[in-house]
Amino acid sequence: MLSLPANDPARRSWLESANDAATDFPLQNLPYGAFRTEADAGARIGVAIGDRILDLRAAAQAGLLPAGVAPACQSSVLNALMALGAPAWSTLRQRLSELLGADSCPAVAMRTRVEACLVPLRAATMLLPAAVGDYTDFYASSFHATNVGAMFRPGPPLLPNYKWVPVGYHGRSSSLVVSGTPVRRPCGQILPADATVPVVGPTQNLDYELELGAFVGSGNQHGESIPLAQAAGQLFGVVLLNDWSARDIQSWEYQPLGPFLAKNFATTISPWVITLEALAPFRVPAFPRPATDPAPLPYLSDPGNAALGGLDLTLEVWLLTPRMRAAGAAPHRLSSGNFQKMYWTLAQLLTHHASNGCNLRPGDLLGSGTVSGETKDSRGCLLELTWRGAEPLTLPNGEARRFLHDGDEVILRGHAERPGARRIGLGECRGIVLPAAT
Ligand code: CA
Repeated sequence: MLSLPANDPARRSWLESANDAATDFPLQNLPYGAFRTEADAGARIGVAIGDRILDLRAAAQAGLLPAGVAPACQSSVLNALMALGAPAWSTLRQRLSELLGADSCPAVAMRTRVEACLVPLRAATMLLPAAVGDYTDFYASSFHATNVGAMFRPGPPLLPNYKWVPVGYHGRSSSLVVSGTPVRRPCGQILPADATVPVVGPTQNLDYELELGAFVGSGNQHGESIPLAQAAGQLFGVVLLNDWSARDIQSWEYQPLGPFLAKNFATTISPWVITLEALAPFRVPAFPRPATDPAPLPYLSDPGNAALGGLDLTLEVWLLTPRMRAAGAAPHRLSSGNFQKMYWTLAQLLTHHASNGCNLRPGDLLGSGTVSGETKDSRGCLLELTWRGAEPLTLPNGEARRFLHDGDEVILRGHAERPGARRIGLGECRGIVLPAAT
């Protein structure tokens, strides 16, 4: 087989559905996920290609994968592969690109062996891609932080620490769910307007947050740190992430220790992990800080991060209400933003997290924080879009929304597109709101 660059936009697959201009999963993407099928209920990992999944367990057992990665490819989750580190990820990606490329897998006999490992995407039930030991959520968009600060506090909207320290909190991995899992409206303590005593009941201000989730690769030993120059190589890949948030519960409980029950009832992620290697053509300079802002401290500064720490990823939120669904209407796009607007890069988040010796492990998940830009149509949550409910949205069918109603489905989508590169997609992160438990 020929060895060809996996990101070469000119390359095509012998699987025609992977060459469709609209597919999220062309030969240049090769994202990893975990799945099962009705025919085979065993959880296993695979690679999305066009409208198929290449079953990595089957491919390993068929002797199609390099010996160094084949054992990890027979796991039910991605953690073992994540733990192998960047050189092994490259080896596997290169082999997969060869096996699925029209120019590199010419022998009919070889194609037949690969075809035997393909499963239709529509026949698969997607599962959480990794066993997530720890989940941390950051707050890396200065536009989001500025808007939220302006709504919740008098005085300067950004707190004095924001431009120095990547702010985050420890989330809850037990309530992480994969796209398609319904989310029940939570109940909690809420302080009604003009009241001094809280009530307990279903949240009236249920919201989504558009985020990117980054999976940690091999991680660091307890007591050690991860230099920023090495951080990008420690990130395995990214998913779409919806940090469901109950704003009325949040505003009562968050002081002084930050988010708690307002956010830990559910967090939804998309099933396909897009690797940093697939995203290499879409790396851009880190967000240009205004000249009046402080430079990052030395441990958060690196020429490589400044030059290529950002990611040019378009991220969107779509809404489908019960009325729209009943009328057969398509989902409506609420916002569109870009990840290159984030004040802190993914590498800076990772390095900061480990800077005190906190050990990050393969499969740990880092949420970016809500992805918002400077324009109103790039605000990544309803809190910002409706300015805490004061400016309701009007949907094309005339319905209004301050926050989410029961039956509403939130759909996050994302893609990367630049001249000289093949467009790749992140798939979808969907969740429908169920009524509160009675
Ligand atoms: Ca968040």
